[in-house]
Amino acid sequence: MMEITDFSALAMQGIQGLHPYQPGKPIEELERELGITDTLKLASNENPLGASSNALRALQDPLQALHLYPDGSGFILKNKLAERLSLQQDQVTLGNGSNDVLDLVARCFLGKGRNAIFSEHAFAVYPIVTQAVGAAAKVASANSQDHAMPYGHDLEAMLTLIDAQTRVIFIANPNNPTGTWLPADALERFMLRVPNTVVVVVDEAYFEYVTEEEYPDTLQWLEHYDNLIVTRTFSKIYGLAGLRVGYAASSPAIANLLNRIRQPFNINSMALAAATAALDDEEQLKMSILVNHAGLHQWEHACQQNNWSFIPSVGNFICVDVARDAGAVYEALLRKGVIVRPVANYNLPHHLRITIGTEEQNRRCIDTLQQVLQRD
Ligand SMILES: *Cc1c(COP(=O)(O)O)cnc(C)c1O
Repeated sequence: MMEITDFSALAMQGIQGLHPYQPGKPIEELERELGITDTLKLASNENPLGASSNALRALQDPLQALHLYPDGSGFILKNKLAERLSLQQDQVTLGNGSNDVLDLVARCFLGKGRNAIFSEHAFAVYPIVTQAVGAAAKVASANSQDHAMPYGHDLEAMLTLIDAQTRVIFIANPNNPTGTWLPADALERFMLRVPNTVVVVVDEAYFEYVTEEEYPDTLQWLEHYDNLIVTRTFSKIYGLAGLRVGYAASSPAIANLLNRIRQPFNINSMALAAATAALDDEEQLKMSILVNHAGLHQWEHACQQNNWSFIPSVGNFICVDVARDAGAVYEALLRKGVIVRPVANYNLPHHLRITIGTEEQNRRCIDTLQQVLQRD
């Protein structure tokens, strides 16, 4: 008889207590299980308009050269990004999605005996990458209900958690799943007070959607704060989530460290080509912003009409308070072919996070939610 080995006990301690990130079910699987077709997925903040046609066209060339390794330095994409963002090439680190970059930051600066700070209701990847390397997570309470931006990041609370072992602070602006955001003055006052020895990651996965005047231009701050890392992605507004490309902008010193531990070919050749081309598609960007704004208004209006509370959002998603166990509402929507995201794992058990779709998709989701909520 082979002895049964407890591999969990052999794993690094941080990993023993981890739960894997829960992605949504694949549509095909769901349709098969429920015997339905024509499913609407508004669960992962993907762009309802799809990928830019520029990007799709650019996939032809690498398709002819799939037997070759991609450019491991991502030279062309980095060059273009640097030019667009008025940075030097050595300030850019490419990632297999921005999640990859968040993971690089954790592996670079965190480990046993160190800690990272982030907010309650913040993006789920921060605790995962922190714990995976054996570091402690210090979670700051979010803004209270009577705050001007309830559920948002409380920067003051985050500052008070800093101690001698703190190496990283993760801030999502805007935050997923809440859609809350931080204005430039508050965030810069915060930067001034964070010790230089603490790396501040400002995760801007949705920044293209934000039109608020007070929203910060953090790239300009890189000159003054060499402990600042700004992360961005091609997964959301550029509609390239399936290809996995993101990047970090930082001081050259930090980029140098991140690039030391980056897998040599972490961005595949299709992704490099598509992302480079997508940067030129201003039309797709403009349309996506317009459709999203219209959709956010449509949702806010529907919420007001139906007396559903929601968290005001500047992203491409909205958290709706269904005033009961949202898991059951999620299941009921699922059976009607509408997939959204329950966010109990973000300590929001009564909310559903719903991606903003096209007008027609939003209408269907709103109607279905009405049916489900009226039933009981
Ligand atoms: C979606 C998302 C990301 C990144 O996704 P990638 O596909 O890995 O680029 C990062 N941060 C937040 C807050 C997100 O919502």
